[in-house]
Amino acid sequence: MSVSTATAATAATTAATAPSVRAPLPVLGLDVTVPLASGGEVTYAALDYAASAPALQRVWDDVAAYAPYYGSVHRGAGYLSQLSTDLFESARRTVAEFLDCRTGDQVLFTRSTTDSLNLLATALPDGCEVFVFETEHHASLLPWGSPHAAGRRGRNARVTFLDAPRSHRAAVDTLERALAGRDPHGPALVCVTGASNVTGELWPVRELAAVAHAHGARIVLDAAQLAPHHPVSLRELDVDWVAFSGHKLYAPFGSGVLAGRTDWLDEAEPYLAGGGASRRVARREDGGVDVEWHEGVARHEAGSPNVIGAHAIASACKALGSAGFDALRAREERLIRVVREGLADVPEVRFLSLFGDDAARVGVLSFVVEGWESSSFAAALSGSYGIGVRDGLFCAHPLVRALTGAEGECGSADSLGAIRVSFGAGTPDEHVERFVRAVRELVRGVR
Ligand code: PLP
Repeated sequence: MSVSTATAATAATTAATAPSVRAPLPVLGLDVTVPLASGGEVTYAALDYAASAPALQRVWDDVAAYAPYYGSVHRGAGYLSQLSTDLFESARRTVAEFLDCRTGDQVLFTRSTTDSLNLLATALPDGCEVFVFETEHHASLLPWGSPHAAGRRGRNARVTFLDAPRSHRAAVDTLERALAGRDPHGPALVCVTGASNVTGELWPVRELAAVAHAHGARIVLDAAQLAPHHPVSLRELDVDWVAFSGHKLYAPFGSGVLAGRTDWLDEAEPYLAGGGASRRVARREDGGVDVEWHEGVARHEAGSPNVIGAHAIASACKALGSAGFDALRAREERLIRVVREGLADVPEVRFLSLFGDDAARVGVLSFVVEGWESSSFAAALSGSYGIGVRDGLFCAHPLVRALTGAEGECGSADSLGAIRVSFGAGTPDEHVERFVRAVRELVRGVR
């Protein structure tokens, strides 16, 4: 491949400083045609943003602009290696800015929210107490103190599951009670979601952070569902770490972020052992190996990183940051009203909520339909109307069971569970209106 340095430099500059995008943010995949069971075709209505959001057009353009200039990161003296390294490190700075990081915070690139939280779990100080609401997504519920951490620093963690609260006040009081009386000098971590993947409801993160800190505990925010809809400021929320995934933030699959404090992470063994994490490696006389590990981001990013994934996340952060969240939120709130009001006179439909129907939420709603299994209902929405939603227990079994009384396995087709509709940037009104019409028709047995 022959690339002039001027072209390569232009591509890097374009990727790094592309002009802001006006709201609403254009997304891909709005013109995909899918077959209907009855014959014929329809434009696919992607109403499952909470699982994975479509990529922003701008993100795709930025990824394409970089793709020809592929080079190894942090390892090469060549021009393209340096270009890739610059792009990767500039992505880190962009994400730090998007999250309003404090001085001294670091941004680690991971594979996903799940990966970020598992990474943090392996860095818990010995004897760490972990407090987590039973309402969390399994990615936030399971990594702490689980057997996978055997041999790692976090292996002696003691996990306390907190009951599902029915109001913000109850959430704060529950945490306060759980932390009261613990030794404030011993290590402790609270893990909380910013927005529920089941109900879409917002959690009182700032208040929970204040309680955690008052009792000498740290707090990690699972922002997988929050970051695509709301600004997330480490400084303002005063959380110690935040985790989110690229594929829910309008970027492609395969990249995620863990951002926040460095100390626990610098004291932990590297998440992966390998090149990039090691500063000095020497064979010992006895046949072993001496390793001196890096501190900072390099310590936990061994191996060749997902540069395109990091670049894509940064591009999404820039697009969202420059468009601003206000227009996005106003639009989502309107679409929520279209769904709620459109189904208000259908008594067979019951929406799920912890904090009440009027609680503030992101563009995520779950419901059960009397007389229907969630999997059959979702299949009918897909087959008869070309609408993609999620059904089941949404990898949040305790919460969905508490709200519906359902049994079943995560993602299993025969589970009862619930149906989830979710949307965001680029969702056309027509998709949501078609969804409301479809639910009404299915409930009345029209189709
Ligand atoms: N946390 C929440 C609230 C989620 O909704 C999800 C995914 O649905 C995750 C964590 C896990 O994200 P990922 O599958 O990208 O690791």
